[in-house]
Amino acid sequence: MASAAEYFSDHYQSARARFLEAARAEGAEIKSWPHPLTDAEGRPLVVDVALLGPADAQQALLAISGTHGAEGFCGSGAQVGWLESGLWREAPAQVRQVFVHGINPHGFANLSRVTQENVDLNRNFIDFSQGVPRNEGYDELASALAPSLWDEETRKTTAHEILAYGAEHGTMAMQAAVAGGQYHHPDGLFFGGEGPSWSHRTLVDILQSCLGRVRALAIIDYHTGLGPYGYGERICTHHGSKAGARRASDWYGGDVTVPSLGTSSSPELHGLLIEGIEAALPETEATMIALEYGTQPLPEVLEALRADNWLLHHGDPASEQGRAIKAEMRRCFYGDADDWKDMIWERAVDTQRLALAGLTEG
Ligand SMILES: [Zn+2]
Repeated sequence: MASAAEYFSDHYQSARARFLEAARAEGAEIKSWPHPLTDAEGRPLVVDVALLGPADAQQALLAISGTHGAEGFCGSGAQVGWLESGLWREAPAQVRQVFVHGINPHGFANLSRVTQENVDLNRNFIDFSQGVPRNEGYDELASALAPSLWDEETRKTTAHEILAYGAEHGTMAMQAAVAGGQYHHPDGLFFGGEGPSWSHRTLVDILQSCLGRVRALAIIDYHTGLGPYGYGERICTHHGSKAGARRASDWYGGDVTVPSLGTSSSPELHGLLIEGIEAALPETEATMIALEYGTQPLPEVLEALRADNWLLHHGDPASEQGRAIKAEMRRCFYGDADDWKDMIWERAVDTQRLALAGLTEG
């Protein structure tokens, strides 16, 4: 292995094949959840799960890739590397290891951050029976964030409107308005949905069927697109007062940030995976982080998302403009460069080792 870059794939289908090959070679048990749709070439979209270690384990490590579709290249590379390199064997014998590959395979294959329902999966885990929260900041910016035209003039005027909101309310308030999650604009950005999405229901099924007996669970959910280039921020999305945040801080030597305490590059969000995991596994002590790697500057990432949203609702992915928008999505969510991949890999290994140590020594 010359470089960790070799663990990373360029397409969903090759990432999937690589993951399955590595899992089989290491003797993992594999379970698969086929998606109802196919990719643009008619090939299957599948959530694959590789399981290693004792089935009756009380302690488990769960690593998830592709929550945000196109961000899956990163987490897939970390999962493939962990298996292929044999580092997974470092885990204490009593620990179960569960790798969920491409939990949002439709977004992964289509270079999109959302699911086929235009849902941001990491805003979809609210309890819909309790009603949905209102994001008034988003309401104010909705037409600027997701215009029905995408020409130079519209891009410029709407970007100006968003910047003006930030100048008036502050950068973090703007981030919360834009990205905090919203439940009233189904064609908009960061839409949390009107009910559990397919990927949501699939994750709950995976948790209950593969991890129902586990008492202590370490979760690492791989993300990209926020923060400094190649740096992996360990974002603890348990609320500040909860025991989970304290455990995460202990395990990772204080090297975690907490949005509810204002120490993260992320604002506080609604409907996160952790909420769904805690609801699905009420008897389990979960300690979760999102490992968030930076790619490009935030304004470029937001511009890519706005363009992709326009493409989904108004454009033609096969057109020249459509292909350019998808190329920009790839650039903004997959730092397709060897130095970036090396940084991803080193931080991933360090983080998974600390998670295993925290699980078994804590
Ligand atoms: Zn993400």
